[in-house]
Amino acid sequence: MARLSKLSRSIAGSVAIITGAASGMGRATAHLFADEGARLALIDINTGALEVVAGEVRSVGAEVLPLTVDLSDRAAVEAAIARIGAHFGGIDILVNNAGFALLAEIDSDAYPHSWDTSLAVMATAQAWAIRAALPFLRQSPHPRIVNVASTEAHGATRFNSAYVVAKHASLGLTRAMAVDLGKEGITVNCVCPGPVRTGITDAIPEEAKQTFANRRTALRRYAEPEEVAQATLSLVLPAASFITGATLLVDGGVTIRNA
Ligand code: NAD
Repeated sequence: MARLSKLSRSIAGSVAIITGAASGMGRATAHLFADEGARLALIDINTGALEVVAGEVRSVGAEVLPLTVDLSDRAAVEAAIARIGAHFGGIDILVNNAGFALLAEIDSDAYPHSWDTSLAVMATAQAWAIRAALPFLRQSPHPRIVNVASTEAHGATRFNSAYVVAKHASLGLTRAMAVDLGKEGITVNCVCPGPVRTGITDAIPEEAKQTFANRRTALRRYAEPEEVAQATLSLVLPAASFITGATLLVDGGVTIRNA
């Protein structure tokens, strides 16, 4: 009998760009996609850490192009993505993941810098990367975009407004791009992590992490980066062909827990 299922769960051979790949969830995504046979373009501002991750995924057999890019520099983003498209002969998957946390109160001296850089890297750069990758994504049989936002796209932690605004923008960009690019078969989705053990949360003492997890998550713990990478993978599979404009919360229940 002919098989009913026709859609593939393999990204083997696909070209995937991952930003913020030198650490945390970006690094975990690079490892997972490498295990799945993808060809990788890894972008980060931290050259040393990026080279380490490139070496790690190369050692498991992945083809990898690491590029040092400051994502707040639009010309550098455009040049990097053009170079990636030319190097691999196409682009199938774009994961806009890079980010950082710069807490600042609205009336503090640190606020303008926090605002400018947060918006530049976690919102504006996602749009520039999509824009630059589009000519290549249009040639792909299964074009996929994932923007990494946060539970801060659904609420607000105090004194974190630049980050909160950037994450709301990332979610808005996801929805707008899903609507605009849907007719071309390009899917655009948003992964919203809760608390994850990465570079961003490294400085939070273990006890404070556990206190937060007990108070705010249903699962009573932080996530490991790989748990978020798996969610990202699920959205870039060829089989994820009718999922677009979606928000995938990977938050251990933060957003559904009232008490
Ligand atoms: P991380 O610090 O481990 O990794 C972030 C990477 O982004 C770093 O390698 C960093 O060098 C890179 N980066 C920062 N600024 C850049 C720039 N201007 N140009 C290029 N690269 C740059 O942190 P992470 O937690 O893995 O962060 C990944 C994403 O997840 C971010 O968008 C973050 O906001 C989001 N997020 C994190 C958490 C968490 O609890 N860790 C929760 C929700 C959302």
